[in-house]
Amino acid sequence: MLLSELAANAELKYDIAEAMKNRTLPHAILIEGVKGSGKKTLAQILAQYAVCSGEGNRPCGVCPDCIKAQKGIHPDIFIADGTKSGELNIEAVRQIRSAAYIKPNEAQNRVFLLYNTEKMLAAAQNAFLKVLEEPPPNVLFVLTSVSATAMLQTVRSRTRILTMYPPTAEEALQVLQKMFPEEESEKLAEAATSSGGNIGEAVSLLNNKGEEEKQMAADIFKALLQTAEYPLLIQTNQAVRDRAFAAGVLERLYELSAECVKASYGAAEVSETAKELAGTVSKKRLCTLQENITKARDLLNYNVNLNLYGTWLCAVLRQN
Ligand SMILES: [Zn+2]
Repeated sequence: MLLSELAANAELKYDIAEAMKNRTLPHAILIEGVKGSGKKTLAQILAQYAVCSGEGNRPCGVCPDCIKAQKGIHPDIFIADGTKSGELNIEAVRQIRSAAYIKPNEAQNRVFLLYNTEKMLAAAQNAFLKVLEEPPPNVLFVLTSVSATAMLQTVRSRTRILTMYPPTAEEALQVLQKMFPEEESEKLAEAATSSGGNIGEAVSLLNNKGEEEKQMAADIFKALLQTAEYPLLIQTNQAVRDRAFAAGVLERLYELSAECVKASYGAAEVSETAKELAGTVSKKRLCTLQENITKARDLLNYNVNLNLYGTWLCAVLRQN
């Protein structure tokens, strides 16, 4: 993730980009902002900057250190989360303090990402203060908190406070379009709106929805193979709970039947589900099915009544 891909917060991004260019980032940064404002993402970008070994602008995104940072396996990036039991209690903070004085393993700097520091008790914050007062060289601390005021004044005054704001639905949509270039904009807009601009939530919504659509498509396919109409009718009615979901399921169903065609010609690089299903239905039946799915997708683009559409879909899919 690069700074430019972070949603909203234009002014903040500009300041940080300048500081990165001039290599003037302070050794301790406290990022404050409500849930979904991108604190963790920014913290990870800063960590990547600190370990990057690229020649030009940092983070370069391509050096071995950047790659490891992106994969979350860089040995010089340490993460502790205040919402996880014991990770930021006084004992843990003392360990972080000693670890900060150890030389980096691979990079030029060691980074400590401390998430949800609003959960730190005053005693733990005081223990942390010592390392902020006499910071070892080549160390970057990045703290994230819902509000800077959750931290002791003494801690606050020794960090640079960055305030982040969550993106609007429109701004979130722009980010999602970059992340999911092949996804339909209607689905992206829906995810951006229903997550209230929270990018992380929108991403998991989109990913989970994809899985759910795939599962539903496989269930429909299996129901198609049964002689009785009823099992399929149940599935198609569940699939049309809303237009976007129905469109997604039909898309997956088309993909699945196309994969089955491939599998029936002996192609190896198809999903397990397709391999399993391919043997159960003739190629001719698969072609008819694809034609009918296309027909169903076209009809869905008109303002059809979804209550009737489920029943119609069942009938059209059953055509041989
Ligand atoms: Zn790099």
